[in-house]
Amino acid sequence: MNKIIKGKYLIDGNGGKPKENAAVIIEDGIIKDITDGNNLPKDGYQVYDYPESTIMPGLIEVHTHMHVSPEPGNYEAALNDSDTVLAIRATDAVRKTLMSGVTTMRDIGSKNHIAFPVRDAVSAGIIPGPRMLLAGQVITTTAGHCNYFGTEADTLDEAVTAARANIKLGAEWIKIMSTGGGFTPRSNMRAAQYPSETLAAVVSDAERLGGRVCSHAHGTVGVENCVKAGMHNIIHCSWLAEDPDKAFDYKEDVADQIAEKGIYVDATVATGYMRTFRDPEFNPSQAQRMGFNAEERVTILQDMRKRGVKFVSGIDSGMLYVRFDDIAYTPERMVEVIGMGNMEAIVACTKTSAECLGVESETGTLDKNKSADIIVVNGNPDEDIKTLHNINTVMLRGEIVKDNSIELV
Ligand SMILES: [Zn+2]
Repeated sequence: MNKIIKGKYLIDGNGGKPKENAAVIIEDGIIKDITDGNNLPKDGYQVYDYPESTIMPGLIEVHTHMHVSPEPGNYEAALNDSDTVLAIRATDAVRKTLMSGVTTMRDIGSKNHIAFPVRDAVSAGIIPGPRMLLAGQVITTTAGHCNYFGTEADTLDEAVTAARANIKLGAEWIKIMSTGGGFTPRSNMRAAQYPSETLAAVVSDAERLGGRVCSHAHGTVGVENCVKAGMHNIIHCSWLAEDPDKAFDYKEDVADQIAEKGIYVDATVATGYMRTFRDPEFNPSQAQRMGFNAEERVTILQDMRKRGVKFVSGIDSGMLYVRFDDIAYTPERMVEVIGMGNMEAIVACTKTSAECLGVESETGTLDKNKSADIIVVNGNPDEDIKTLHNINTVMLRGEIVKDNSIELV
C-alpha cells in the first residue's frame, strides 16, 4: 500500500529550516514527493499523521560491533562465548539498533561467521534489522587491537590478503587497526601498529575492488599514517601522544589535511561519556588519561570543526556501557562537545554519514527517489537535540516497523 507520512515539522536532512506541515508521499518504498500537508491526494494512500512530532531521515550509525555485549564482563564474553551465543546477541543488537531509529548501520568489527549470516537473515526477512554495511573481521597485528575477533596480519602482503578475504565474503568496508585500543589490554593505544605503506596498500587494493577503508586510530602517529595512506574514514582520531606522560599531541597541519582530503572522522564523542553515568566504578582521572571528556580533547575537536573536518556519527556500540539503542547520545555530544548547532549535528548523523558510507544516492535525506527511511520524533530536534532520545516511529524502505512506540515486527 502506498503511504503518506506527515508531522508538525519535517527535517529533510539537507540542513535547512524545518518545514511546517509537510508530508512525504511514498510509493513502493521510495519517496515519490514531498508536498504540502494540506493538499494531499485523496485516494490510494494510507495516511500516517503525527501532529505533534517531527519527521526526518532515519539515523545512520557508522560504528557498531554487533556480536559484542555492552555490559560488564564484555571482554571475557567476547573471548569465551560460543558462536551460537554471539549470533543470538547480534540478532538482538541489530533489532535494537533499528528500533532506536537507525535505518542504516555499518558494523566495523564482528567475526565473519556472525556478521555475514546475521545480515543474510535480515535480508531474508527472518529477523528485523537496518540496512547494513559490513567490514567483517578487523585487520590487526598479532596480539594487536581486537585480535580475538579479528584477522591477524603483520606484513603488507598479509594485510592486503586479509582485506581481500573480507571483500570476497561481501564486505563493503575494511577496518584496519592503525593503533592499539582500550578494549585489548596488552595493545598500545599510543603507538602505530602499521606503517603508512601498509595502510596505503590496503586502501588502494580495497578501492580496486570497490571497497572503502576505515581505521581505528587513537595515537597521533596512527592518525598521521592514516592521512598519508588516503584513508576514507578515521575512527576515534584521539590525537594521543606517544609519550604517556603527555595526554595529547594535536597537529593542526594534519587536521587541515584531514579536511582537505575529505577524510570523514567518527570521533566517538559519546562513547566514553556513557561510562560517566552508567559505570559505578567510573574513575575520572583514568578517563582523562584516555582522552575522554578532557578539556583539551574538547578544544581539539572544536578546532577540527573550525578547520572544516567532516564529522560523522559512530558510538561504538558493544563497547562497555555503549548499548545498541544509544545513537541519540552522539548528536547530543556533537552539540555539547564539538560545538555543533542542533541542525548541524542532525545532518552529520544523516546526510554526511550516508556520504561517508557511500549510500547517499539511496538514503540519508528525505528527497525524491530515495528510500523511505523515516523516523518520527516526539518534539523538534532542531530546537532540542535531546528529543532524538524520543523516537517513537520508524519506517524502513517504506515499511513501518515501529509505530507510536509499538514494535510491529
Ligand atoms: Zn569500535
